[in-house]
Amino acid sequence: MVRLSIAIALIAALASCGGDKTSSQAAKASISTQGSSDNRVAKEVFGRVATSSSGRPQSFGGYARGCQAGAVQLPQTGPTWQAMRLSRNRNWAQPQTVDYIQDLSRFAATQSGWSGLYVGDMSQPRGGPMLTGHASHQTGLDADIWMLPPNRLNLSAAERESLSSISMRRASGAFVNSSWTPQHEAILKAAASDPRVARIFLFPGAKVEMCKNATGDRSWLRKIRPWWGHHYHFHVRLNCPAGTAGCEDQAPPPPGDGCAEAQGWVDRILNPPPPKPADPNATPTPRRGPLKISQLPGQCTSVINN
Ligand SMILES: [Zn+2]
Repeated sequence: MVRLSIAIALIAALASCGGDKTSSQAAKASISTQGSSDNRVAKEVFGRVATSSSGRPQSFGGYARGCQAGAVQLPQTGPTWQAMRLSRNRNWAQPQTVDYIQDLSRFAATQSGWSGLYVGDMSQPRGGPMLTGHASHQTGLDADIWMLPPNRLNLSAAERESLSSISMRRASGAFVNSSWTPQHEAILKAAASDPRVARIFLFPGAKVEMCKNATGDRSWLRKIRPWWGHHYHFHVRLNCPAGTAGCEDQAPPPPGDGCAEAQGWVDRILNPPPPKPADPNATPTPRRGPLKISQLPGQCTSVINN
């Protein structure tokens, strides 16, 4: 039982960077559009391609089962940002995502103590599954933003490998800790208020804190979604850009500000419900292997062979 719950926690942690029910449902639906018999493991192929494909920028499939064509790179350093962990080669995305990150970083630079943003993983040059780290980030529409306020934007490549972000959480994510500032809240509010954004994943204690502090219009809170992890960084997920037919959006978050739901997460962290007794008659869930190229949308075969 203990081993089982560790396994479940591990799966949750691995899927935590924006893996979620709605996009996996959308992903299942997209299997029907596949047109390839390429049975190579997708992460082994997408995880080793160093450059983007040519052609019009487009996202294909869902956030956790897709790829991207015509990706561009967030420049490694700009006036108000630095891309981190350059060795991973994950500063690729759709042009709309790169524009968004630059815009948000300009706002961040107006905040006391912030010279801009440190930007973590975006996507691989052609998107797709990764060898390590994320279930999503596959379509060039997801980006991780570090919680660490940048005090300089002249980090060397080596420093960008060794520097770490900092955690904002206390009590397993039920509350924010003393590193959390009004500037974090202002940046998250600006991030969520942008119409290009579909969702932002953030640990539950921080959402509840922002629910307490929000004044005036609260509609932006709807997009801030409580999720596991996400206390060293927050994860921004953009909508499919207009005119990209092969890109699958997620269903929008439930109506309302979502503050009661976030409080429910916090309550369960503080008072975990008793584990359900194992059902001796339950059919074990079949283990799913890693995604094959044939399980991605058919366009991803062209993207990888381009
Ligand atoms: Zn992420």
